[in-house]
Amino acid sequence: MSDTTAEIVICGAGIAGIAAAYHLAVRRGMTDVVLVDERPPLSLTSDKSTECYRNWWPGPGEAMVALMNRSIDLLEEIARESGNVFRLNRRGYLFATADPERVPEFLRRADEAAALGAGPARVHGSPRGEYQPAPADGFEGEPTGADIITDRALIRRHFPYLTEETVAVLHARRCGWFSGQQLGMYLLERAREKGVRLIDGRVERVDTTGGRVRSVTVAERGGQRTISTGRFVNAAGPFVKHVGRLLGIDLPIFCERHAKVAFHDTLGAVPRHAPMLLWSDPVRLPWSDEERSELAGSPAHRHLLEEFEAGVHGRPEGAGESQAVLLIWTYDVEPVEPVFPLEVDPTYPEIVIRGMSRMIPALSAYFPRLPRAVVDGGYYTKTRENRFLAGPLPVEGAYVLGALSGYGLMASNGAADLLADHISGRPLPSYAPAFRLERYDDPGYRALLEQWGDSGQL
Ligand SMILES: Cc1cc2nc3c(=O)[nH]c(=O)nc-3n(C[C@H](O)[C@H](O)[C@H](O)COP(=O)(O)OP(=O)(O)OC[C@H]3O[C@@H](n4cnc5c(N)ncnc54)[C@H](O)[C@@H]3O)c2cc1C
Repeated sequence: MSDTTAEIVICGAGIAGIAAAYHLAVRRGMTDVVLVDERPPLSLTSDKSTECYRNWWPGPGEAMVALMNRSIDLLEEIARESGNVFRLNRRGYLFATADPERVPEFLRRADEAAALGAGPARVHGSPRGEYQPAPADGFEGEPTGADIITDRALIRRHFPYLTEETVAVLHARRCGWFSGQQLGMYLLERAREKGVRLIDGRVERVDTTGGRVRSVTVAERGGQRTISTGRFVNAAGPFVKHVGRLLGIDLPIFCERHAKVAFHDTLGAVPRHAPMLLWSDPVRLPWSDEERSELAGSPAHRHLLEEFEAGVHGRPEGAGESQAVLLIWTYDVEPVEPVFPLEVDPTYPEIVIRGMSRMIPALSAYFPRLPRAVVDGGYYTKTRENRFLAGPLPVEGAYVLGALSGYGLMASNGAADLLADHISGRPLPSYAPAFRLERYDDPGYRALLEQWGDSGQL
């Protein structure tokens, strides 16, 4: 590449842009790829993640599961070739309920997931069930699909730390977590070895004279640079809509605030070998009688006595002596403009720890004196049905890789691989149409959107 030309310019060095650069340069042999970011790589949303992955996704259709299976295949391949530098594990996602009426739903979801390609459903309804727990580390040779345990003795044997009221658990198996930062840095290093250049600057203009990409103007510390190029990828994370406007395109995207709580679990309430733990029932926060009457008298805090929606979840983080635990609970999903730094309700850590104590009662030992918690977060950048965008835009040479919502770490390789197929003109996988912007032009798809059910957001 010379300073003023490139085969392709990618805006955004979050996990999406970096994975795109990697798949274009390393796996498709494209030379002359330029990545532009006004911040350090992976520093806006991609380092705020809980870093989990799952092939556990609802329909309609098989696209989401197929894409995630491909993405996880790629993660495993890269883990093998790198000596697992990003510590991919396969502990699974453990959904639990204390509501007997939810058990048929667990069974239905497991059957649906099996039909969509996530792997078989295995039901364990007796104390002698052949349930095989997940190892803490590694990812090879593990089952796919899901185990549903409905026998309470078997649940207690394997998960003694869950509330005794638990009546069923669903353990989704092609799931776990990894270090997103290590994965991103590995992909970036491999891409740079193949000539990818990283420019520290802000994409301010894309020249699309005549309906096709001609150049990209970048504001750098030392001034402006215009890069002549025929191809441009918008991978601007929460700013994907803003960067879309530089191309004259209004992308159907919005942002939601999501934050996670990290604290040192000095009392060891969450076992270090635990899988990702998710409570599937709505929760009323536990308060003492005194706290309850105090909250009832405070208009600003009265809502803390109401029922919160299902979905509080968390997991242990880190190896060795680490005591870190991450918790997350999204009960406020109002669309907002992405503004940094993110503002988070100061009561969030207490709400999440109290909420999670419904699932793991040992956490209630922290109520008298809450642990010091670090809260960080960012935005889920989403389409209305929570399926990302990867593919061409209606300006020749322009592409998008965005709206990766709360699953961009796990989906980044599959999504970037798909984008690279579009750009390099390779045959496209069957799931490609589900992630193109053009899907919204299809009246059949628009009708489907009107009755879309579960978006898969946790
Ligand atoms: C609390 C939380 C928990 C999450 N948990 C998970 C999880 O468990 N698993 C999972 O897979 N995902 C998770 N996610 C989602 C995941 O973090 C995101 O989907 C992913 O990081 C999005 O990556 P990105 O590259 O699209 O965006 P970003 O990481 O935001 O990168 C976009 C980049 O574009 C740059 N940019 C924007 N505009 C310009 C411009 N004009 N010029 C130059 N540069 C520009 C920005 O500086 C930024 O660096 C979570 C997210 C949050 C907030």
